[in-house]
Amino acid sequence: MPDTHATVERPANAVAARAEAAYLGLALGDALGATVEFMTPREIQAQHGCHRTIRGGGWLKLKPGAVTDDTTMALALGNAILAAGDIDAHAIGEAFDAWMRAKPVDIGNTVRRGIIEFRRTGRLAAPPSEHDAGNGACMRVLPVALATLGQPEDAVRTACRVQAHLTHHNPLSDAGTETIALMIQDALQGADLDALVHQRLLPLIDAFPIFDPDGKREENPSGFIKDTLRAVFQALLDTDSFETCLIDVVNRGGDADTTGAIAGMLAGALYGPASLPEPWLASLDHGTRRACAIQSQALLAQACGNTTPTL
Ligand code: MN
Ligand code: MN
Repeated sequence: MPDTHATVERPANAVAARAEAAYLGLALGDALGATVEFMTPREIQAQHGCHRTIRGGGWLKLKPGAVTDDTTMALALGNAILAAGDIDAHAIGEAFDAWMRAKPVDIGNTVRRGIIEFRRTGRLAAPPSEHDAGNGACMRVLPVALATLGQPEDAVRTACRVQAHLTHHNPLSDAGTETIALMIQDALQGADLDALVHQRLLPLIDAFPIFDPDGKREENPSGFIKDTLRAVFQALLDTDSFETCLIDVVNRGGDADTTGAIAGMLAGALYGPASLPEPWLASLDHGTRRACAIQSQALLAQACGNTTPTL
């Protein structure tokens, strides 16, 4: 086994193993996609052929295996949930503020604005805004999905919005973010892709048809939540493994680290730990790999303190 796991407790059961795979999936998708973020599919093809190796570079000039804000913000959120023992808006705001002060490699405009407002005024929720329909609240939602596993759907949705509204306060952002969290929870508990479609995707499309992944292939997905999630849903529906799903989504270019991160958390939860490609895991930054593994289990343990997730 790689040394990463030497002092990390092994997941206790299938739910725990899938939770770890979801967290590693987030980081793997971020690291894979960052290389081609903001490129077009044609540029990716010309430069990499089919991009399928975690090799760093990209516009951020990353080291191979390095992750970006998608993963580091999720880890900051997760640490705040663990420290507070709850989904506490103030604790999360403080954690985001500290995260920004530590100079992350990148940061979205809406995220920056929300954190600066929190810092200046202590504001815990941005006013509703049609401009806040970016993917920044969705990309970091995984720790909330883990910490609220087993809670009623309404409570899960509320928890998603508490973390989201610090920076993004928009009905499309909320709907997309809540749907991804609920899909992850269903997958952790053994739901297959078909069940995710029927239980979560179809109701989302009923409420917000703009998310419907049917139709034109989403290429160059922007940071707008509906573009991002349409690309993720298409990739998930067109493939049948973690690896093929992530390769499909990041080669669409655009906001590829974030489509990779969201597809990665979903596909990791859905296909489980054995589906994560070993060469990708070996390439992933070791500290990040370890942090994801540890935090996934700590958040589940916190969820179990409330109610017991079932297999
Ligand atoms: Mn990023
Ligand atoms: Mn991005």
